[in-house]
Amino acid sequence: MRERRDFLKFFLFGSFFLFNYRISRAIEKQRNTKILSSNVFKKFVINENHPERPDRIEFIKKLIKDSKLENIYENYEGYNNVENWIELIHSREHINSLKANFPLAENVSRHAVCICLEGVDRIMMKKNRNIFCATRPPGHHALNTGKHEGFCFYNNVAIAAKYIQNKYNLSKILIVDWDYHHGNSTEYFFYDDPSVLFFSTHDQFAYPGTGSPNKVGKGAGKGLNINVHLPCNTSNKQIIEVFKKILIPKVNKFKPDFILISSGFDSRVDDLLGCYKVTDEGFIELTKIIKNLAHIHCNDRILSILEGGYNLQGNAKATIAHVKELNNFN
Ligand SMILES: [Zn+2]
Repeated sequence: MRERRDFLKFFLFGSFFLFNYRISRAIEKQRNTKILSSNVFKKFVINENHPERPDRIEFIKKLIKDSKLENIYENYEGYNNVENWIELIHSREHINSLKANFPLAENVSRHAVCICLEGVDRIMMKKNRNIFCATRPPGHHALNTGKHEGFCFYNNVAIAAKYIQNKYNLSKILIVDWDYHHGNSTEYFFYDDPSVLFFSTHDQFAYPGTGSPNKVGKGAGKGLNINVHLPCNTSNKQIIEVFKKILIPKVNKFKPDFILISSGFDSRVDDLLGCYKVTDEGFIELTKIIKNLAHIHCNDRILSILEGGYNLQGNAKATIAHVKELNNFN
């Protein structure tokens, strides 16, 4: 009799734990990756032959459909008031000048900021583990000059970093920039800031001509600005080695609370503006490295924001490879 009771107890407890385990696994599965984009990005055309064109996003959307990833895609048309957050990075004069001189570009760029901040909110509310923002125009060259710099109007990733710190009280942010070009604006805004670790791989002899490895940050931010010059023909092996040897040890010391990626795919092979040989498999490996760091240090929190990438097919393929790996949690 007693044995039967013990067995029943054991059985009930076992079922209870199994049930809870299954529920938490189901919740974890729901909390997968999301791709956020918008039809607004179709509106803004610089000129017919310009490489930074609406088709960059349209090709990504098409490949999302062909890859049957519609379940993790969302067209986000919400228009929150984000100007006070933009002002944490950009001057009022810059914003006013864009509104007066480039009203459509300003509007579309502001929508890109909206999407990035919405992405942060969803990660912080644990709706998603990580998010990819398929936005344009890019942002990592945008300074406070009252005009665009290198196709960029507002620095999305820099604004997202300030937003995370101010709204959610997280102090330490890692920004990884694997675009072919140096993220000069991101460097500029956080150069003496000890709360942001900026790591950029790029060709320092390409636009905008900055990104010397000697620029390591200043004051309290000294040592937290890492520029790695990679020459033309850089391979998967070379860029992965840099991430392993330089990024990983630095991040394990810094211990970020949130990771942002300036995800530029003009570092991919066959790009119109770049000269690297990095393939989709290379981006998958880089994504794995960053995912692992996010798992160790910050509860998997990664917001990845599209920067450059001008071979329409290549940019879309690299995006899908990156997003699939972001969403791979088995
Ligand atoms: Zn670029």
